[in-house]
Amino acid sequence: MTTRYVFDFAEGDKDQKALLGGKGANLAEMVKIGLPVPPGFTITTDACRVYLKTGAAPAELAGEVTEHLAGVEKAMGRTLGDPSDPLLVSVRSGAMFSMPGMMETVLNIGLNDQSVQGLAAIAGERFAWDSYRRLLQMFGKTVLDIESHEFESLIDAMKAARGAKQDLELSAADLQELVAQFKGVIERETGSPFPQAPRAQLDAAIEAVFRSWVGERAVLYRRQERISHDLGTAVNVQTMVFGNMSEDSGTGVCFTRDPGTGEKGVYGDFLMNAQGEDVVAGIRNARPLHELEGESPAAYRQLLDNMARLEAHYKDLCDIEFTIERGKLWMLQTRVGKRTAAAAFKIACQLVDEGVIDDDEALRRVTGAQLTMLMFPRFDKSGDVTTLTKAVAASPGAAVGRIVLNSTDAAEWAGRGERVILVRTETNPDDLVGMIASEGILTSRGGKTSHAAVIARGMGAPCVCGAEDLLIDFAAKTVTVAGDGGVVLREGDLVSIDGATGEVFLGEVPVQASPVVEYFEGAIDPATAQDDLVTAVHRLVTVADARRRLAVRANSDNPEDSARAVRFGAQGIGLCRTEHMFLGDRRQLVEQLILAEDEAGRAAALDALRPLQQGDFEGIFAAMDGKPVNIRLLDPPLHEFLPDLTSLSVAAAVAEAKGEQGTVDAHLLAAVHRLHEANPMLGLRGVRLGLTIPGLFAMQIRAILSAFTAHKARGGTGSVEIMVPLIGDVRELRLVREEAEAIARELGFEPGAGTEVSIGTMIELPRAALTAGQIADAADFFSFGTNDLTQTTWGFSRDDAEGGFFSAYLDKGVFPVSPFETLDATGVGRLVRLAVTEGRETKPGLKTGVCGEHGGDPESVHFFHTAGLDYVSCSPFRVPVARLEAGRAAIMAH
Ligand code: PEP
Ligand code: MG
Repeated sequence: MTTRYVFDFAEGDKDQKALLGGKGANLAEMVKIGLPVPPGFTITTDACRVYLKTGAAPAELAGEVTEHLAGVEKAMGRTLGDPSDPLLVSVRSGAMFSMPGMMETVLNIGLNDQSVQGLAAIAGERFAWDSYRRLLQMFGKTVLDIESHEFESLIDAMKAARGAKQDLELSAADLQELVAQFKGVIERETGSPFPQAPRAQLDAAIEAVFRSWVGERAVLYRRQERISHDLGTAVNVQTMVFGNMSEDSGTGVCFTRDPGTGEKGVYGDFLMNAQGEDVVAGIRNARPLHELEGESPAAYRQLLDNMARLEAHYKDLCDIEFTIERGKLWMLQTRVGKRTAAAAFKIACQLVDEGVIDDDEALRRVTGAQLTMLMFPRFDKSGDVTTLTKAVAASPGAAVGRIVLNSTDAAEWAGRGERVILVRTETNPDDLVGMIASEGILTSRGGKTSHAAVIARGMGAPCVCGAEDLLIDFAAKTVTVAGDGGVVLREGDLVSIDGATGEVFLGEVPVQASPVVEYFEGAIDPATAQDDLVTAVHRLVTVADARRRLAVRANSDNPEDSARAVRFGAQGIGLCRTEHMFLGDRRQLVEQLILAEDEAGRAAALDALRPLQQGDFEGIFAAMDGKPVNIRLLDPPLHEFLPDLTSLSVAAAVAEAKGEQGTVDAHLLAAVHRLHEANPMLGLRGVRLGLTIPGLFAMQIRAILSAFTAHKARGGTGSVEIMVPLIGDVRELRLVREEAEAIARELGFEPGAGTEVSIGTMIELPRAALTAGQIADAADFFSFGTNDLTQTTWGFSRDDAEGGFFSAYLDKGVFPVSPFETLDATGVGRLVRLAVTEGRETKPGLKTGVCGEHGGDPESVHFFHTAGLDYVSCSPFRVPVARLEAGRAAIMAH
């Protein structure tokens, strides 16, 4: 079957987002349910991928476009660029995942020196020349890569010459003159005149949209949003309808419920006599949707009706773009609307209560990433706070930082470690760098649908928009708050912004815990909670707990964290890193152990350490009473407990030069030299320590089991898992196991799978995964150390993720997200699956878990569910997120 590259809007549906992009698929769906959509067609992402790969559109594309264009022309009774009554089209990007404003659009394709006259005869001179001017400007910038200021400066000059403040004050003749000037710019910059042939314009615009997929802005956005660079964009070619054609034309954006709270109602903004981009860009302050009733009653009623139909059809909050051309309503876009994290939880529960969706569907509609956002702290305003202004609450969260008025500076300040609040009149796609670098975003224009708001919500950054009281002077780098004796802020002054309420405060306001965290802490009773967010989170986490197969444990190495983990719902400890107990005052003892020259010295150091370790373990057993506690024997390379090699060598050299013998311990220096690791993540660590430092593991095992005995003597219960790190071969494990079993028997335990004391291993080296069938023979359980497994499978160091070449890899799309954050399911994940399968072939029912950072990462949790693990273990704070995602994984896996 040959690949088709073009689909009419009447052919697709909402489930074809991968092929038609989100916009194209939803346009098709609206046509399917009979809503008024301007006719058009979608060029598939397949075509874009061919273009990106070969540098040319597929050969079949031109013919298919001709065929589908003819269909649109027939439906409209007009032809593209007809000199007397031209059909005009828009060419817009539309990827599988929404990337607002990141790619290109060209409007009014089909206008040229002849058809502009035809349009003028029908719709008026001013409108026709303004439309042609817009085409030249967009085509010049997008298709021909001409700097936008080349055009903007001419508009400014024309306005200055006419004494005009706004574009609207320019006359038809002024705009006609601008058209001539713009054509001159194009010819000068490219060496060729503006293409007059409508079809040539169309083909060039389509290719420009394909290219915009790899534009700098789009690449940066995808990296931020973890969208794969391989997807490509679809292109929608659609009949133009004009919201700026007359006084009874207009355009707007609306939601079927409040995207901030989930309340049902009439939410949206519109502008009369304007084009869609004017509303989205926040350039003119839009009016609230309910006022449309007075302007265009019939269109308003029809819009409300369409909104209700769309929400009923999608069974979810929809966000909609519409245009009214001379009183007639057209639907230009819809999609399941973005919403704040709080609204996602609330809307999901409201829809369950309204009988629209069931519990499982509600659980599908919320994410661990959203729950994470809800656990961020908020402002504590109980003290003295100075409110500067209150504006649109565009993206929730509390942010404190120094005000910076442009994006380049914001990125630079943040690079120096400053917390920054980016303050702009409005943002545009070029501000992305500054937005990412900032703690929060504050604009003086635009509403909930402005660029700043949409992007900030996507990034999870707090944002306050439309703060009209703030008068920004970019030259003087000041922000003056309107009103009597208005405060004047200078660049660098501290402000606090609350994206949940829209408030802006002077200086740094203290922050307090979120109610969601208080609920998990047990401080708020969900049965009597006033806050419907708390109720919604409680309901959905409860559903998740009922659905999930994966148990959730915590990584914790002290009683306080363990207690918190239990409050957050942890069902045990999946990893207690004993090295964290060897720091502080105890470092001295570890140093003694390492430097001991004979058995007696070593024994003395171990004897001193054992009771201290035992005390630690008793505290943890108490906090985790009744639950399994997995304790890992010492893992890190010993140099981590010794002074740094370089500083010690320098001190020794200085001492020698000064003739100060004995200042630096030669013995210590020799040890530091001996143990220095060129690659700190390989070498003498993990089980290798246990096998080469006599008595070390034995001391730990004794401390663990003595602590467990003491715990039981106090009436405590639970179980203990002794875990051996960095095994590569079953023989290593056998040696440690023999030693551990002997000690266990001596202390009255008979270790084994499913008993109160078990002995198992981490799987964190490829060789361990590859020989898991053998290793399982000596292991009561496996726990995947996916940090090391990622490191050793890829040959990366964890430090590489901190910058260096990782950012280049992310840019080039080698991976869309760091494999240390989200498990590399294809590579590292394959080793995990293999080890689970072969381990269980040897030992049916072998308990398996994961304790690397991935245990708390939403996407990775889904992988571990499908790989058949028994539990995930993550930091205490991420336990609720893991519970939610484990529940989602269970219902989404089939
Ligand atoms: C791991 O490697 O995934 C792990 C949990 O151990 P650590 O991070 O302590 O090396
Ligand atoms: Mg490890």
